[in-house]
Amino acid sequence: VRGYAGHKVAILGLGRSGLAAARALLVGRATPICWDDGAEGRARAEAEGFELVDLTRPGAYDGVAALIVSPGIPHLYPQPNRAIAAAWDAGIPVDNDIGLFFASLGTSDWMSFDQPPRVIAVTGSNGKSTTSALIHHILRHAGRPAQLAGNIGRGVLDIDPPENGEVIVLELSSYQTDLARALTPDISVFTNLTPDHLDRHGGLGGYFAAKRRLFAEGAPDRAVIGVDEAEGRFLANQMSQGPGDDRVIRISSGQKLGGPGWSVFARKGFLSEYRKARQMASIDLRDIRGLPGAHNHQNACAAYAATRALGLSPKTIEAAFHDFAGLPHRSQLIAEANGVAYVNDSKATNADSAAQALRAFGRIRWIAGGLGKDGGIASLADALGNVTKAYLIGHSAREFALQLGDTPHQISETMEQAVADAMAEAEPGDTVLLAPAAASFDQYPDFEKRGEHFTAEVQARLGS
Ligand code: ADP
Repeated sequence: VRGYAGHKVAILGLGRSGLAAARALLVGRATPICWDDGAEGRARAEAEGFELVDLTRPGAYDGVAALIVSPGIPHLYPQPNRAIAAAWDAGIPVDNDIGLFFASLGTSDWMSFDQPPRVIAVTGSNGKSTTSALIHHILRHAGRPAQLAGNIGRGVLDIDPPENGEVIVLELSSYQTDLARALTPDISVFTNLTPDHLDRHGGLGGYFAAKRRLFAEGAPDRAVIGVDEAEGRFLANQMSQGPGDDRVIRISSGQKLGGPGWSVFARKGFLSEYRKARQMASIDLRDIRGLPGAHNHQNACAAYAATRALGLSPKTIEAAFHDFAGLPHRSQLIAEANGVAYVNDSKATNADSAAQALRAFGRIRWIAGGLGKDGGIASLADALGNVTKAYLIGHSAREFALQLGDTPHQISETMEQAVADAMAEAEPGDTVLLAPAAASFDQYPDFEKRGEHFTAEVQARLGS
């Protein structure tokens, strides 16, 4: 990271991205000063020899050029963070690792390549990781140099120096787009928008505003936008310079698009691409194991559009789809025994993502619950048609039980019990699905641990 040589830069939050920022600043001959409210983070920084300065103390920002904040730290809502507010008051620019990355892109040696690196940034409420990983997979499958970073894979400041013609695929959460001062991807992707993380952004408007920044500020060459919600249609309209403009590629799962512009949509298991009212390609998605369900067909459309925008052919993309293994904890088939399928969708941390999984499989024995989000599973009423019975766990078990009404359910409390109960009652043709519609933090450190626990319980009971 260049641009701060000879200056002091403060870093708040000493997890993976904070430490990577400190190292990158040091390489750029700046002097990082570090702080974290937690002793563990401070110990990590000290172990690497970084100077610790309590950023909540008066005068902490004297002589400091910028503050770099970790995405995990809420800056504004539910209440302003003290160290960040002190930086505002001191007039110091507040940025994050993503902002540092984009700012240094323009000043780096890479610009001397005949094909400078290109950046694809993916945001949205659901499907970001799957879409980013799929784009990365398609590029690698086609023999193009590519790296995956951001919210998935490596921290953006931990990537290898890009090669000539390399594509950097960044998954960006609203926490990251919100604070980054520079956001200039070549291709921006917006998958969809559903209420999530609302506390942190002070409501839906703030949440959408954080995601929109990837389009408004960056003015990317191409924008791939999911138009199944009003927010996406609004964004596509704002980015477009009129009918027939092919800067925007609209994508949908379920709606037939077309018209004078550029669009990619999935319907009844087929992906179609239209450009200037002509069909350019059609791909059968139904037998692609790594991408089950309509929600994954939306992710396939997004990844298809982004890689088409880079010039890949439909045939190349289709071949890569067939080779995609899917991501762990996202509609992942972990076992099949006695005619029963076991699917780990621990990543379904909100009602909307769980709804997608509930629509993607047949007769479902549904393990759900955890730390519920606002509204619980009230919005799932229409998605319960395939649920034979629900087995509820965690903090939200009782709230979910009330909201399930007539749908058969029981309170199992723990994962062990839920797996045992669902397995004892499952019949051939059923799918035992973990799709919690809730965060994991009441019982687990993260959704990965929850998914691993489910997988281990299933495997132990199947004796595999
Ligand atoms: P993110 O990175 O945005 O959280 P993931 O790709 O990790 O998204 O998927 C998270 C969960 O959301 C998955 O487990 C799946 O249940 C659901 N999901 C995946 N893609 C979509 C989509 N396009 N629309 C709605 N839900 C989705």
